[in-house]
Amino acid sequence: MSKIFVANWKMNKTVSEAKNFLTEFLPKVADSKNEIIIAANAVCLADAQKKVRRTNVQMAAQNIYTERAGAFTGEISVEMLKDIKIKTIMLGHSERRIYFAENDEFINKKVKLALNEGFKVVLCIGEKEEERENKHTIGVLTRQLKVGLMDVSAEQVKNVYVAYEPIWSISTFSTGKTATMDEIAEVHGEIKKILAEMYPAVYKDIKILYGGSVSPKNAKSILKIKNVDGALIGGASLKVESLVEVVK
Ligand code: PEP
Repeated sequence: MSKIFVANWKMNKTVSEAKNFLTEFLPKVADSKNEIIIAANAVCLADAQKKVRRTNVQMAAQNIYTERAGAFTGEISVEMLKDIKIKTIMLGHSERRIYFAENDEFINKKVKLALNEGFKVVLCIGEKEEERENKHTIGVLTRQLKVGLMDVSAEQVKNVYVAYEPIWSISTFSTGKTATMDEIAEVHGEIKKILAEMYPAVYKDIKILYGGSVSPKNAKSILKIKNVDGALIGGASLKVESLVEVVK
């Protein structure tokens, strides 16, 4: 069965680095039946989007602002993304939550705006190390989903990919720990239950991705886990070879 791969380049790649990456990457995955999305910084997005046109790879934005336009220096609007034909927006990434103090209510405003404007949303959720140690994982994820998806209809939620990323397992937060296959299976099962309660009619259609140190070594095993519909890949998406290996 085909899977969904969302690469998160974070604050990496200049316009020319992105172009060189795609020149090498696109032919190597041209026969892939998987859904491949690359979330790139705003500066390289327009050029990269032109480069992936008529291929099986899509570009995505890593963020938007809650307002449509105006005096919000430094921010990016949905209109700007529409203009360059971007269809997917990643929201609620743990780095935005931690470094830019984004809370669930603020993320929810962006989620609703993006969905109302016809975008697909990759909604990132995940618990911190101490929250897991204190057995608050499910409580945290329930809050992130319930508030993050507040006032999102059953019809709209079909355009949401939920990305579960235990923060302590993300390579750059360097706790040195990674989630085990059992831990991933357990939490994905719980996420499915929360979504079933929130969206009884459509929860089966909501895709759940796993992220956190996904690499060519573990991708195959992770993608075999029940309720794992795809992967969100950070560090391993920066090199053509490793992203190709993960996707294949
Ligand atoms: C991420 O931060 O979204 C991520 C998945 O990072 P990594 O794969 O490097 O752990």
